[in-house]
Amino acid sequence: MSKIIKTEAIVLSKMNYRDTSIITIVYTEELGKISAIVKGGRSPRSKFGMIIDPLNHLQIIIYLKESREVQLLSDAGIISHFPKLKENLKAVKYSYAVIELVNKLIPGDEPNKRIFKGLVRILSLLNSSDQSPEILFGRFFLFLTTEIGYEIQLDKCSVCGSTELNNGELGFNYGRGLLCTKCKKESIDNYKINSELFSYIICLKNNEQVNSLTETTINNANNFFESYLQYHIYKFKEIQSLKTL
Ligand SMILES: [Zn+2]
Repeated sequence: MSKIIKTEAIVLSKMNYRDTSIITIVYTEELGKISAIVKGGRSPRSKFGMIIDPLNHLQIIIYLKESREVQLLSDAGIISHFPKLKENLKAVKYSYAVIELVNKLIPGDEPNKRIFKGLVRILSLLNSSDQSPEILFGRFFLFLTTEIGYEIQLDKCSVCGSTELNNGELGFNYGRGLLCTKCKKESIDNYKINSELFSYIICLKNNEQVNSLTETTINNANNFFESYLQYHIYKFKEIQSLKTL
């Protein structure tokens, strides 16, 4: 028995399959992350094959059979293809990083409406906002890691509990968390967090305005995010989109 499910979805990836078909991974509102085949999706006669493209926000129909690994996608219509985002190379790069994280970090078949909403919202902001793509990406990173149970705690030292964190270089131990200047000397710190990086991540986390931001701090933040995931997520290697695009 298969069920017919109508749901919104964001296309995370696609690949060609056989002569004319497409296999896509989509993050859907109703079903979470699923793989689906679009039969004949590359044929010129396909009514909707063309819109099965990464980043697109679609309304889709899925013939769901729970025993099947790849579902059948039988119809699709476009909600948004985020045209302004695609004109801006930096926004494209960070949008791909967003869908890459969703693809790599979220297990299949677990719907989560908050993550779906957050994903649509971040792509809409990347499409329309005057906020920098790297800042939007940073906010999404902290949101997503919190949603999947790996929240980065930054409000106090994880060893002594001190909240005096604004004087000097801090450390971060992936297993424990944040280390104040004093505890950093006595513990293993996997990552050094200078004061610019610390206040930047705090701004991201509290949704505060970021006033000045250097290229070095952006790179430090992205490196910190990546190594945090390498520690917590089995087999996670890198945020590829930040390197290749
Ligand atoms: Zn401490």
